Amino acid sequence: MRILIVEDEQALANALTQIFIKQKYNVDTCYDGESGYDYALSDIYDVIILDIMLPKMNGFDILKELRKNKIKTPVLLLTARDEVSDKVKGLDLGADDYLPKPFFTEELLARVRALHRRNTDIVVDDNCLHYGNLSLNLNSYDLIFEENTVKLGLKEFSIMDLLLRNPTNIISKETLIEKIWGYDSDAEYNNVEVYISFLRKKLDHIKSSVNIITVRGVGYRLELL
Ligand code: CA
Repeated sequence: MRILIVEDEQALANALTQIFIKQKYNVDTCYDGESGYDYALSDIYDVIILDIMLPKMNGFDILKELRKNKIKTPVLLLTARDEVSDKVKGLDLGADDYLPKPFFTEELLARVRALHRRNTDIVVDDNCLHYGNLSLNLNSYDLIFEENTVKLGLKEFSIMDLLLRNPTNIISKETLIEKIWGYDSDAEYNNVEVYISFLRKKLDHIKSSVNIITVRGVGYRLELL
């Protein structure tokens, strides 16, 4: 899962970034409204954490423009203000949740998890994503098929998570690079191919009947044998 943090208080932004990295999220951080808006427009994020009072472009304007551009990423508004009118304005503009500062880390994490769950139709139970008899544990990074288990690295996990949340869709290499490596990274198709081959070896190792197939010239999708 990839999240975007837009917050101009650098100490807070950096603390939040560290918290989410520790939770194994992919994180991009912006310190002003304009760059936050540019990043959000890429539409590669699962959740955006957005401050309201920001230099260059405020959170309300960012939200309004994103929704106007059909970017539906769930947005959690984060703000020092705890005024009802701001909350109503934010929600009217298309925010999905609202958290006044100061807040407890645990509450922020719980709300981000809830927004992410709400945004996917996939069943998550016991902290696992399932497809056929294949399960991915979102806490331990174990990939499980029947009685066999193998542990995934962070990138392998992120790719498998994305494939399992879109089991019938073809995921392009561009999407994988943007979502897993980041939108300004210099990762290439070759990087994706290497990690896909690691994942295939692991699927083979646990004798999974779910495989990753290559759709030539397009990308990858899961196949249930
Ligand atoms: Ca601010």
